[in-house]
Amino acid sequence: MQEFFDEGALVAVLTTQPLDRTLDYFAPAGGCATGAFVQVPLGPRQIAGVVWGPGQGDFDRSRIRTVTRVLNVAPMRDELREFLTRAGDYTLTPMHAMLRLATRAPGLGDPPSMRTIYRRGDTGPERMTDARRRVLDALEDYGGAAFTQRELCEAAGVTSSVVKGLVKQGALREEAAPRDTPFPRLDTTRPGKPLAPDQAASAGVLREALDTRAYGTTLLRGVTGSGKTEVYLEAVARCLEQGRQALVLLPEIALTQEFLSRVEARFGARPAEWHSGVTMTERRRIWKMVGEGGAELVVGARSALFLPFRSLGLIVVDEEHDSSYKQEEGVLYNARDMAVLRASICGAQVVLSSATPSLETWANAEAGKYRRLDLTSRFGASVMPAMRAIDMRGEELPTGRWISPTLARAVRERIEAGEQALLFINRRGYAPVTLCRACGEQIGCDHCSASMVEHRFHKRLVCHQCGESRPIPEACPSCKAEGKLAAIGPGVERLTEEAQALFPEARVATLSSDLHGSARALKQRLEAIAAGGADVVVGTQLVAKGHNFPLLTLVGVIDADLGLQGSDLRAAERTFQLMRQVSGRAGRAERRGVALIQTHQPDHPVIRAILTGEEETFWRTEAEARRAMTMPPYGRLAGLILSSTDAAEAMRVGTDLARTPAPLAGIGARVFGPAPAPIARVRGRHRVRLLVMAPRGAPIQQAIAAWLAPVQLPKDFRLAVDIDPQSFL
Ligand code: ADP
Ligand code: ZN
Repeated sequence: MQEFFDEGALVAVLTTQPLDRTLDYFAPAGGCATGAFVQVPLGPRQIAGVVWGPGQGDFDRSRIRTVTRVLNVAPMRDELREFLTRAGDYTLTPMHAMLRLATRAPGLGDPPSMRTIYRRGDTGPERMTDARRRVLDALEDYGGAAFTQRELCEAAGVTSSVVKGLVKQGALREEAAPRDTPFPRLDTTRPGKPLAPDQAASAGVLREALDTRAYGTTLLRGVTGSGKTEVYLEAVARCLEQGRQALVLLPEIALTQEFLSRVEARFGARPAEWHSGVTMTERRRIWKMVGEGGAELVVGARSALFLPFRSLGLIVVDEEHDSSYKQEEGVLYNARDMAVLRASICGAQVVLSSATPSLETWANAEAGKYRRLDLTSRFGASVMPAMRAIDMRGEELPTGRWISPTLARAVRERIEAGEQALLFINRRGYAPVTLCRACGEQIGCDHCSASMVEHRFHKRLVCHQCGESRPIPEACPSCKAEGKLAAIGPGVERLTEEAQALFPEARVATLSSDLHGSARALKQRLEAIAAGGADVVVGTQLVAKGHNFPLLTLVGVIDADLGLQGSDLRAAERTFQLMRQVSGRAGRAERRGVALIQTHQPDHPVIRAILTGEEETFWRTEAEARRAMTMPPYGRLAGLILSSTDAAEAMRVGTDLARTPAPLAGIGARVFGPAPAPIARVRGRHRVRLLVMAPRGAPIQQAIAAWLAPVQLPKDFRLAVDIDPQSFL
């Protein structure tokens, strides 16, 4: 409830300072309402905050100070305050951290003003230098967006004199622009593509759902290329027609550009784009415009969920099963689940779109909690590729080689037919392990319990855990023997080498997230490949996500067993999803594709489900297995990660915790552990895990909060609670 406080009344202000409570202040002259963004004094500083409600009154009145001023931004709506509170309760996150998520834009309280911005000019510079090229590239990277001088210098890594020089030569244009202008309106009267019957029916259902103006969640399922995007764009259109705002979440920044172009083709203008690659000025503009109604559609990463929408009517979560929706650092939340929470508070519709839904979503649809719409055919004439296993037990392969003769033959046929083949391996780098043949030492990261992965294209060893990298040494760091280091196992770069040797006449392209520098470079690469610029593509899971390769008719999965190893709860589900998605890359256009799956266990139930394509059977079997073990979604889990620089201490604190599980026992929950985490050391910190398992429906958050409340952690300890963990590393 919006409440107004007259001057001098006591108000509680929530700030982003790491405190466990709100702070009391007196309302300023003119008063203030709940939700108002305010500036308040704290010690010698002035900080920003939000009026959260009446003051708590438990603080010495003589020491209470007055709100400095009310900031000139749209107040936080009740709906968002409730969302932050409930999301914080759900994820056991303190409110100051939740507020930080909701205010990720600089200078929010600054008054409106003019600023100088820079755009690409009409001419090129007289003389091109490296620095100048970087400036022009940066401008292009952001699709012609304008920059302030500081942003441009930062993005390009140049000094302001480079920018000034380019202005003088006409390569850059200087303009005065008001800050924070509204986004162009999207034209919903433009016709969309004529829809196929199942698309039209699904779009109709979503439109009706929007017309109720009430909350609801729909699973929109259909293989890649079945036209799901076209369908949910129709829902976006209806939402905008209603004068409400829409949000589309995408799992990968690399997909944004293609999607923005589709929105532009459909509605005649580009929507607001929100992710970590967007400039600070642009973020501030989006944050403000979303709050004032000057942005109708936002496309972006999971954090867009915390923008101050005025009247949110629709949230689309594209590729809802994607693990990147789970934020694994800082505030541990799952954007898919939080989207459902926010929508249920503000009366919006959610569309969860996927070719291979998560088991959670599938089960919610089965239980009737979510509506389910299926697009049964691929758009146009083509169908899912024929799926076949290559039984690796029957293939002759020398060590250090991974492409079986059967697969190699199939690839050759494609090359000869002028089509494309994709070789898929979900491992970046050259080889996952580097071993010294003299002493047997495996080169590991100095800070983590992870092995250093050789990246031969960059000539470096890289820790995939912490990002640490160093040049590839000549000699073994342990025994100093020279020339004895051997690469063990395949990575995408090594497979490229093998493909080049096997198919010398072919043009082999590598696609891996670490090889392309900028988003623009990657996009150009993808476009070039789609246009036929390669015969064989060797790629990581980057290729599994939504790109169109019309000439691609063969997918070879190098090691389908890889994902099935390990004890991860979701190993089967993830392997199934990934294999189906990758296979879906083949034969999108007119030609039917083939997917060949190399495996040592062709009779494994997951591999069989992949081959037969009996998805419902797969889900049903997997659901039964989880139910039998009371694992999610038929039971609840929470992970606790304790970390410290002292391994023994971490174990001791973990053991103490596990010994006092009274509040957990009260809800029928059990504690497992402590055990050293599978990745036992990260950045020099030792990690210990505990796992809490509770029955479905048990109030696990309250019990954990009560359990941890009396715990005094030693200095230098960190404790993270991960509700509904996705990763168990
Ligand atoms: P999905 O989101 O299920 O992967 P898309 O919506 O991206 O599928 O559709 C796949 C391709 O088919 C896209 O190139 C899209 O433009 C095209 N397409 C989908 N529906 C139609 C339609 N009704 N008419 C024409 N082209 C369509
Ligand atoms: Zn490391």
